[in-house]
Amino acid sequence: MIELREARAVQQRVSVFTLMRLLPLINDFVPLPENREPPALGRFVEMHEQGHKVLHHALLRNLVKVAFALVAIWFLAALMIRWQMLFWEAVLWLHVVAIPFRIFFHFYCWNQEYEADRYALEKTDKKLAKNNLRELIRCEYPHTPLFALIYREHPTAVLRKERLLNR
Ligand SMILES: [Zn+2]
Repeated sequence: MIELREARAVQQRVSVFTLMRLLPLINDFVPLPENREPPALGRFVEMHEQGHKVLHHALLRNLVKVAFALVAIWFLAALMIRWQMLFWEAVLWLHVVAIPFRIFFHFYCWNQEYEADRYALEKTDKKLAKNNLRELIRCEYPHTPLFALIYREHPTAVLRKERLLNR
């Protein structure tokens, strides 16, 4: 049922991605692993993590999460009290309605990632950044930007490299 509704909702864009979207619930509960093997971490990655700390990204991210959680609780309560829905029905609706919110949240996270990348580039240099990002690309399961936007808090390593170095 939910899969059918999902399929109809995304019919405008037919691709491999449509197929992946047919499994949104599965993807939520059993997320695909990000990497096929752990990347060798270099100084660029180290500085990227430092960038997150210096720029208070985790705190900001959690504040946004709390805000969204409150909206979700309010939405669930409204469906159950005002629309007399059963809990599981309300949860399914929340799942559908949450998609744009999640995309917005991921978009926000991606900006933090790009920001941390820029910070790391300032602390290192172009060559090092390029090598480290290449290593990340090598280890990452390839996926489309659209898939990443819906399911990932990180942009793909390919996107990060393009964004940071091809300007
Ligand atoms: Zn990061």
